[in-house]
Amino acid sequence: MKKSGLGSHISKRFDKTIDLFFHAKEPPKWIFVLILILYLLNNFFVVKIAKAPGIITLFGTQIPINLFTGVLSAFGNICIIMLVVFYKNLGYLTSVLILFFQFPILIVNLVVRHLNSALPGMFTNMFTMAACTLIFIINSIIDKYQKKIGEQAVTDSLTGLPNRFACTEIMNGLIKNSVNFVLVSIDLNNFKSINDTMGNEVGDKVLKEIACRWKTLSDSDRTKTNNLVTRLGGDEFAVIIKNYKFKGDILNTIIAFKSELEKTITIDDCDYFMTASFGCAEYPIDADNSTTLFSCADAAMHKVKKQNSSNPILRYTPDLLEKEHTLEIERKIRVALDTDSIFFYLQPQFDMDKKLRGFEALARMKDTEGVIIRPSEFIPIAEKNGLIDRVDTSVLKKASLFLAEALKKNPELSLSFNVSVKHLMKNSFVEELKEIVRSTGIPAENLELEITESIMIDSVEKALNHINEVKQMGIKVAIDDFGTGYSSLSYLSKLPSDMLKIDKSFIDAMNKSESSKQYVASIVSIGHIFNLKVISEGVEQPEQLETLRNIGCDFIQGFLWGRPLPPEEAAKLV
Ligand code: C2E
Ligand code: CA
Ligand code: CA
Repeated sequence: MKKSGLGSHISKRFDKTIDLFFHAKEPPKWIFVLILILYLLNNFFVVKIAKAPGIITLFGTQIPINLFTGVLSAFGNICIIMLVVFYKNLGYLTSVLILFFQFPILIVNLVVRHLNSALPGMFTNMFTMAACTLIFIINSIIDKYQKKIGEQAVTDSLTGLPNRFACTEIMNGLIKNSVNFVLVSIDLNNFKSINDTMGNEVGDKVLKEIACRWKTLSDSDRTKTNNLVTRLGGDEFAVIIKNYKFKGDILNTIIAFKSELEKTITIDDCDYFMTASFGCAEYPIDADNSTTLFSCADAAMHKVKKQNSSNPILRYTPDLLEKEHTLEIERKIRVALDTDSIFFYLQPQFDMDKKLRGFEALARMKDTEGVIIRPSEFIPIAEKNGLIDRVDTSVLKKASLFLAEALKKNPELSLSFNVSVKHLMKNSFVEELKEIVRSTGIPAENLELEITESIMIDSVEKALNHINEVKQMGIKVAIDDFGTGYSSLSYLSKLPSDMLKIDKSFIDAMNKSESSKQYVASIVSIGHIFNLKVISEGVEQPEQLETLRNIGCDFIQGFLWGRPLPPEEAAKLV
């Protein structure tokens, strides 16, 4: 397959975005005309001044006007050189012609009219011509390299197709001009097995053959759309489709690509039968930028791959990306668990005199690129996929080691830890806790288990058994996010708890209306009636602190007095 002609292939059917990579942009043509006019005017004045008899006084010196011809002809030469520098072939041709046609005039002046002043003009002309030629040659060489580098940047070296970068740039160009288009993400099925069984060389030949067929199809008029095929890498390709009148045109174009692929591929006398998964997304309906469009088309393509159904072409729908995102986070949680890189922050809890009570351990996670993923994002996914108990345990184990150290300085410190309902329900839960207490040697009384009200909805019996066992160990129990869920006085009496945590949403609303304040006050009273301590979460403002003090709240946790901190920072508070 021909490698050259990428630029022409794209520019014929697609916009000129990619062209800019191999051709330096010329200044507009009107500047060319302007320089020419300046040059002609300049020459007109040279002739006039040469004949002028006058004298002017400059800085006290008397200078004959005709001496300025030298200055003006230098300016003329600069005009000529500018043409060559900026306008390549056209500029060079124009300059050489201008300079060349001046020679007969200069010769007549010198030989026939015996004007000696024509002699320097002759030499200047010759040198300018030489300079122009030199600049032209150097410019051409630079141009050639620029074109080559530009082509390499946008070309896939194996197949000669535009690469991922080119694909993105072309899409960005279309988006900039508000042109509707469809991006089709294509992934070959089972291509890896060809590489594994027949070797990479055969794999490469198969890819080249596919690329060649698709490029021929894309160049032909067999589809009713304008389309461009690009290789994203490995066995992934993408087709950009534009100029479709009906939705059917898009599907027919994809089907044409599919049929080309599915024709037998024969390499070194061996037949290969290839299939692929196709996922497509449309600008501007599904996404308004190229990155999201890629994600949408990929999500549809991955769905096809997973379904293994008879229809290998799928259009993106919004739920796909969400699923894709969930899968991505799930994968990241698994990696973090396998590499033991889930870590924790500690948020301090204080009594109303700002004496440190202890810390709440909060799970933290980074992906392999070091980007922090918030617990509000990964905890629900870990809960759904049965990974939460590993997350909980990992945080508790690590935070317990911190507590063991901290207790040496302050033996009264408490450590609150979060446990998901799903985790708490597991038969092994209590045994797991016992093992952690045993191995770290911390007194159970310094630990506080945080559970949410939802525990009272899911199989109450088992939850109560486990909580009772935890209590018997000596571990304290706090009811987290109190007031947001299924609050009922009857379960408060059943749950053997020690602490109520008032949810941040009530603290936020508290100072906005009298009734909200009364609500928080009544939670505090109820807690005290049941002989529980009460802690307020999410305290951010001094006014909130003041109100809570008046109401009789026992403890405070919030950004006002302490954000979640890395263990090293938290240790300083102890
Ligand atoms: P939570 O247990 O209610 O934890 C309190 C959350 O409120 C924390 O968010 C904390 O950073 C935040 N917070 C505390 N004070 C303030 C404040 O003054 N202003 C604001 N804007 N926020 C404040 P984070 O760390 O993002 O945790 C979110 C949730 O993730 C936790 O809510 C908890 O339900 C869950 N979680 C965290 N770690 C674990 C864990 O190890 N296991 C389980 N099962 N869940 C966890
Ligand atoms: Ca909590
Ligand atoms: Ca909470």
